[in-house]
Amino acid sequence: MNASPSLSDSHSRMVSYLRFSVTDRCNLHCLYCRGLSEEHVLPHDHLLTYEEILRLADIAWGLGIRKVRLTGGEPFARKDCTRLLLSLRERFPELNLRLTSNGTLLKPHIKSLQEARINAVNLSIDSFDRATFARITGRDLLSEVLDVLEALLAAGIRVKVNAVAMKGVTDVQLPSFLEAIERWPVDVRFIEFMPMGSGTLWQETIFLSADELLQKMQELARLDAVTERHQDQGPAQMYTVAGSRGRIGIISALSHHFCDTCNRLRITSDGNLRTCLFADAMTPLRGLLRDASVRNEDIAAVIRKALATKPVGAELLKAKRAIAVAQGHMDSIGG
Ligand code: SAM
Repeated sequence: MNASPSLSDSHSRMVSYLRFSVTDRCNLHCLYCRGLSEEHVLPHDHLLTYEEILRLADIAWGLGIRKVRLTGGEPFARKDCTRLLLSLRERFPELNLRLTSNGTLLKPHIKSLQEARINAVNLSIDSFDRATFARITGRDLLSEVLDVLEALLAAGIRVKVNAVAMKGVTDVQLPSFLEAIERWPVDVRFIEFMPMGSGTLWQETIFLSADELLQKMQELARLDAVTERHQDQGPAQMYTVAGSRGRIGIISALSHHFCDTCNRLRITSDGNLRTCLFADAMTPLRGLLRDASVRNEDIAAVIRKALATKPVGAELLKAKRAIAVAQGHMDSIGG
């Protein structure tokens, strides 16, 4: 087999991970994601078609992308999302293929996820308390999501749980997260609340830092840091907990940023390339992908050019934290 091509930016970071937001639609209205923003949905013809996504995936594979995540919005809010997963798997048998979902629409698709040999599903579960879950997401669907979590595990699909850390919510409910990893073999990863989206509810008073969270967690259980880094660990610092089947992870996107090792690119649901979650700069690709006369090599060159200016987002982040407002919505960017 030939050595893989590699894609690096002007800071010598190797870029190998691409996240597609396949739709900006979502059936939930999570406070940290959509906040106070009005419901806004892109016209369908503004979304990349599955064929355009596959074309872009081909180009990305040629550039050295080896991990792809479908996210949103809610991926299953878009019709036939599993068709896209199956096509990606068919074209790229070796691709590290992942999905982030709220789980509420996922149940009928578990067999297709198995067929697509999905490497892992990330489920967003910000609280294991029914009333809190309903308050955060706007829907009383926790039991349905837990049912999906169990069905995924029963189907042999690896599950990671994402929870956005919020003061007064996550910190007071830590025991229920510990119970969850005792019960299920899942990694529960706490993500620091980021000031994203124009209607964000982000405030310094709600922000729960990774250090605070870790300290509170250590008051409840013995956590041992996993020092060995696995290729698919991403930016989470993982901890084992004695007697538990699962693990705890902390993603400190704000307090100890990991921009120096960022290996990601994002494609918004309307086909813009974002090289940094915290930068508002976007490179439109939809028009190019839609035009059969544009060669794949030319699109690859546009991506390489955009990558040359991939920022180290930490400074941008500081400014955003000060104003707690960023352009663009998390659902079209994909988190
Ligand atoms: N609908 C899917 C879901 O619920 O997981 C996928 C989309 S969601 C935008 C993707 C991820 O972004 C979720 O794990 C969510 O927790 C995270 N996210 C959204 N807004 C966030 C914020 N302001 N700070 C930190 N994480 C956020």
